[in-house]
Amino acid sequence: MRIADIQSHIDHELVSREQIETLIEKTARQISHDYAGKDLLMLAVLKGAVNTLAALSQEISIPAQMEFMSLSSYGSGTQSSGVIRVRKDLDCSVRGRHILIVEDIIDSGRTLRWLVDELKGRGAASVEVFSLLDKVSRREVQVDVKYPGYVIPDEFVVGFGLDYDEQYRNLDSIAVLKPQEYEHEDQGEQS
Ligand code: 5GP
Ligand code: MG
Ligand code: MG
Repeated sequence: MRIADIQSHIDHELVSREQIETLIEKTARQISHDYAGKDLLMLAVLKGAVNTLAALSQEISIPAQMEFMSLSSYGSGTQSSGVIRVRKDLDCSVRGRHILIVEDIIDSGRTLRWLVDELKGRGAASVEVFSLLDKVSRREVQVDVKYPGYVIPDEFVVGFGLDYDEQYRNLDSIAVLKPQEYEHEDQGEQS
């Protein structure tokens, strides 16, 4: 789905499909270089990071295992609390493995901080992070991001895997919805 298909819902586009492709190609080259000869495990957090992992995995030029975890954090509809619940765990051990966490967006950093600590606690040989988007101004806890993505302002975005109320994940770029689209926001879990 493209912006033009849902123009009446969109306030503005923030990151275009071309910008996403450029970033992913550049990052894939770097990752292929850095992990050459290593046993790479790419881990995406469901569901938001699925599109980014799919796109990145096709651009890297070395073999890599792809795994998924589903995490949720309690908080209001557009904010994360840092209280993390594992909805779906990994099916494999990470002991001694080189893990690249592939994320859609970093906001407070709480989800990622928890995940990095958890994987290191399980004995991973290394844990690095790529995130397509980064709301740097919202950071509450420090996380090292080896492969940085686009820094975006403090606006709630959808597209390329990111949802609002499970909608808009299949938009092929990153956009901000019109204010009226967010009006039925309520308390709940997000993932
Ligand atoms: P953090 O733990 O860094 O505060 O939150 C990260 C998670 O919050 C993301 O993986 C995503 O699920 C959600 N999130 C944060 N900002 C946005 C946003 O602008 N749009 C959407 N759709 N989800 C967001
Ligand atoms: Mg995420
Ligand atoms: Mg969500």
